[in-house]
Amino acid sequence: MRILVVEDEQLLCDGIAEDLEMEKYTVDRCYDGAEAHERLFVDPYDLVILDLNLPGMDGLDLLREIRAERPEQKVLILSARASLSDKVSGLDLGADDYLTKPFDLEELEARVRTLLRREYIQRNTLVQAGDLTLDTRAREVSAQGQVVSLTPREFSILEYLMLHQGQWINQEELWEHIWEADADPFSNVIRMHISTLRRKLRERLGHDPIETKIGRGYRLNEEAAL
Ligand code: CA
Repeated sequence: MRILVVEDEQLLCDGIAEDLEMEKYTVDRCYDGAEAHERLFVDPYDLVILDLNLPGMDGLDLLREIRAERPEQKVLILSARASLSDKVSGLDLGADDYLTKPFDLEELEARVRTLLRREYIQRNTLVQAGDLTLDTRAREVSAQGQVVSLTPREFSILEYLMLHQGQWINQEELWEHIWEADADPFSNVIRMHISTLRRKLRERLGHDPIETKIGRGYRLNEEAAL
C-alpha cells in the first residue's frame, strides 16, 4: 500500500512518513502543494494524507482537483484549521476523513488502516487465503497459525496479492503500489523480493502459493494453499 504525505512542516511530514514506514507502508513525501499535484497525476496512491495550508497550491484546491480527476482517490485531511466550516468544506469536497492537529500518531495509524481496508473488507482486520492469514492491524502474516518473519517489502508484496486474490498482478502494478517514487524501476528488486518471499512461504506451507505467468504477472493461488 502506497501513501503520499503532503505536509509543508518538514519535521511533521518526516515524522508521519517514518511512522507509517515502520507500519510497513510505502510512503512518499511532498512539502509543497503544486509538487503534490504533479506527483498525484503521475503515480497512483492508495491514500493521500493532505495538509490544508500549503505553499504552491492550497490543500482544498488540490482536493477539488483530485475529486474532479479521480473520484475514487482516498484522501485523509490533516489540518490545524479546527474550525467547523473548514471541516465541513473538506468533507463536502469529498475528503474521506479529517484529522485535526495536533494529533496522536496512533490515531493517524488507526484512521489509515480503516481507510485502506474499507474497499476490501468490512470491520474484519484479518484477510484469509487458504492457510495464510494477514492481520492488517498487527501488520503481520501467519501460515498455519505461526507468524512468518517477513521484511517490510516482502510483507507489502504479499499484502497486495492477498488483497487482490485471484487477480493477476503485473510487475508494474506491484512497483507502483509498493515502491517509492525515487526507486529505480529497472532493477531486479521485485523478482528478488518475490523469490525470498516464496522461499519463506514454501518453508512454512510445504508449497509455493504464488503463481507466475509470463505476460500476466503474479497471482496468489488460493487453491494451492487449501
Ligand atoms: Ca501546513
